[in-house]
Amino acid sequence: MRRALFILIVLGLVAAGTLWVAARPASVTVAAGDLAIDIPLWLAALAFAISLFVVGLIVRLYAGIRSWLARRRLKRALRHRDEGDEAMVSAFAALAAGDGSAALKYGEKARRLLGDTPLTLMLAGYAARAAGRVEAAETTFRLLAEQDGPAAALGQRGIAQIAVERGNRAVAAEAARAALAYQPNAAWAKSLAFEDSVRRRDWQAALRLLPPAESGSEEGLRRAALLLAAAAEESEPRAALRLEQQAAALAPALAPAHAAVVRRLRAMGKARAADSALKEGLAKASHPMLAALALEGPADESKAGRAKRVAALATEVGGAELALAAAQAALEAEDWAEARRWAERARSGGVEDRRLHALLAKIAEGEFAGSERAHAEAEAHWRDAASAPEPPDWTCANCGSSHAEWSHLCSSCGAVGSLRWGEARAASPQLLLPAPLPGL
Ligand SMILES: [Zn+2]
Repeated sequence: MRRALFILIVLGLVAAGTLWVAARPASVTVAAGDLAIDIPLWLAALAFAISLFVVGLIVRLYAGIRSWLARRRLKRALRHRDEGDEAMVSAFAALAAGDGSAALKYGEKARRLLGDTPLTLMLAGYAARAAGRVEAAETTFRLLAEQDGPAAALGQRGIAQIAVERGNRAVAAEAARAALAYQPNAAWAKSLAFEDSVRRRDWQAALRLLPPAESGSEEGLRRAALLLAAAAEESEPRAALRLEQQAAALAPALAPAHAAVVRRLRAMGKARAADSALKEGLAKASHPMLAALALEGPADESKAGRAKRVAALATEVGGAELALAAAQAALEAEDWAEARRWAERARSGGVEDRRLHALLAKIAEGEFAGSERAHAEAEAHWRDAASAPEPPDWTCANCGSSHAEWSHLCSSCGAVGSLRWGEARAASPQLLLPAPLPGL
């Protein structure tokens, strides 16, 4: 209605203008060089109006063509997106089915249709890897690693995975550290960086990668193993002692931690502190290593004195290993009755291995020296010793291998803090790099 009114007003004005111009004969002179043409004013006005109309028509036509092209582009982009999405789903499905070449074909199609987005790059990388084109996969993962944010972590993960498969642990660790900058809690990256720090004997860096641990927990054992490794390489005795004390507090059942504290205190000339640390260690971990430290006394100590001291300690602290040490000390002091008494205490405490029977044989040989009884009794004990189980040793909880000595690392599988005293249990090995999506 308003539009019609507007057109009517315009038409009215044009008619009035035309009448006004027609009523006043006038002309417009157009001069070009020597030529001059007189055009009636009404004709000039008409020509002006027609040219305005034509310009308007051209502008409208241009705008129409532009909008048509934009619509066409949008339509094509939407079609590409749909086809690209479809290719991505097909590529993921092929990956999950283990069909590398199909995954590669669809992955490349998705990349062509959708461009280099984090998702298409990740997919193309894993598809190339599944198709055995490792170089191409690595190049694609490096492109992905150059992107911002979490996409970079995905790229580093791909690089690390290939490096692990090639056995290049240093490159894998470098990628893991780069990924940790974006994802500080990525378990795979922590695991690779931790392994690398251990290999480079950078114990403090390895400790920083472990979560905080409670005393007596599995993580506590791992931390304690690293603390003891760091202490062994520490040149300043007080700093080394602090590390060893931390280890003993984190892993109270770990005899080597207590033994390290006792040895360190003794080396520092702190005999009383060493004795109290030994008592504390023996109360928490009954172990031959600590019992052997209990047998070590002052240089001028007599055999009888030593037997008395160890017996007093065994009475106070208890424990089968210390009872066996007391029996050993009594044997060497030739106090046969005491030796037998402590040997029986060790047996009732659970020591029933070769060491007990060998000790009983030696007691019989000493007590009844040269007699028929000595011979018969000792022989029976030696026979028992031969058929008795071996003394416990250190077993790796990760790979199940046996070790005579404790070490912070398993020499078979490289696990940290995995050695357990007398346990023959192998935990199921953990996947280093679990797939982020099925099939990857
Ligand atoms: Zn192992």
